[in-house]
Amino acid sequence: MRHIEKVADMAAAARRLASEGKSVGFVPTMGYLHDGHLALAGEARKENDVVVMSIFVNPAQFGPGEDFDSYPRDLERDAALAEKAGVDILFHPSPEEMYPEDSDIRILPGRQADVLCGASRPGHFDGVLKVLTKLFHITRPERAYFGQKDAQQLAIIETFVRNYNFQLEIRRVPTVREEDGLAKSSRNVRLSHEERQEAPAIYAALKDGARVLRESGDPELVLGMVRNTLGRIPAAETDYAEILEYPSLRPLNPESREAIIAAAVRFSGARLIDNVLVTMEGKTS
Ligand code: AMP
Repeated sequence: MRHIEKVADMAAAARRLASEGKSVGFVPTMGYLHDGHLALAGEARKENDVVVMSIFVNPAQFGPGEDFDSYPRDLERDAALAEKAGVDILFHPSPEEMYPEDSDIRILPGRQADVLCGASRPGHFDGVLKVLTKLFHITRPERAYFGQKDAQQLAIIETFVRNYNFQLEIRRVPTVREEDGLAKSSRNVRLSHEERQEAPAIYAALKDGARVLRESGDPELVLGMVRNTLGRIPAAETDYAEILEYPSLRPLNPESREAIIAAAVRFSGARLIDNVLVTMEGKTS
């Protein structure tokens, strides 16, 4: 596995691969790898000649007071895991390398960013689109792999890539979970012992919500139930719990084919997000 830190070197490698007719599968991450990231790499490995993974904790997508400084980092461990997962090139630039000047050109997501995490983390998805635009240009992927765990991010990226003619395909990868249902996340290591015991209740609430939504078709009932269950997790404070149409992220309506039930919950050491998708009765998704 080759390590690359410089943008110019990564761009040159991507140009060379393109000239050789080799397809690049790209897996953008913020590192501190877990099985979710490795599932993305596994999919990329199956479908492409070359797998490029980036590890970059992107300052542009963290707001003031968020956990940019304390975000877990361990490049050595990540490199070993990435290599084992079949990654060919690990691209890990510094923030100064990625952002040598403070560009005053902004890339703004649309309406899909006004809800869920976008509502509680203003500017977050601007930062995501900013870094991905750069990473896509630098790595020239044929396919890029994203987890359903960050469902809003995925929906916004799909729209962005389609609307702005990025010549690549976005691949969706299902959420990888711990045995007790907790979605794998780099931030899980920051939960206290008690919080870690309580955290699987998030997915349990969402799963119950999905069942009741399928049975009743009544989003208000489900929302009340999910919020109530999340509210009873002792160490957690609910940031949001919502039901929307997916991937438009508009309000659910009788024509909606797919719904997302999504929640964000704050523990003392970490804010966790999770979601489930529900195919609506009688509709094909
Ligand atoms: P991150 O390093 O958190 O920015 O995540 C990098 C990529 O891994 C994103 O596309 C995430 O959606 C994906 N990802 C993170 N956690 C999981 C998970 N538990 N299952 C599947 N994909 C995930």
